[in-house]
Amino acid sequence: MPTCLPLVHRRCHACASERLRPSGKFRVNANHKLLDAWLLALCTACGETAKLTVLERMTVRSIRPELLDRLHDNDPGLTAELLQDPAVQRRNRFDLDWDDAWRLDTGGSDHLDRDMIDVAVRFAARIPVRPARLIAEGCLLSRAEVDRLITEGKIVSAVRLGGKLSGDFTFTLKR
Ligand SMILES: [Zn+2]
Repeated sequence: MPTCLPLVHRRCHACASERLRPSGKFRVNANHKLLDAWLLALCTACGETAKLTVLERMTVRSIRPELLDRLHDNDPGLTAELLQDPAVQRRNRFDLDWDDAWRLDTGGSDHLDRDMIDVAVRFAARIPVRPARLIAEGCLLSRAEVDRLITEGKIVSAVRLGGKLSGDFTFTLKR
């Protein structure tokens, strides 16, 4: 689950940094009946402001009033939603850097002494993570042990455990 907003991975136009921090603020500009809205982000190195386009020359009537209210109120939940919106990411050519912006909640470790456990992993946001890393942390194993158990067929899953995942999966651990 996320613990804070992720960083925006995009080149700053004023310096060589590639990380922008979402400011949590929006700028809305209405010109006659057309409206633009941007999500503002600040370069983590030089502080320069970058504008990420949310709405571009939209007629005011075509925008849901609820969305306008949230833009004007700098709704923190809206920032999180828009950052993860694939359409917003494509339009502004960025992806997200989730390092240090999430944590694993295991709900305790009581089950770990059993011979066999079935585990369901739920993602509260689409955060790309190596499943082996989650399994190691959640099952109190080293990464080397997890790799060995996968090789020996003692950790099995319908998904590939080698790469990164950002969606729910299950696995079985046998000892
Ligand atoms: Zn910069």
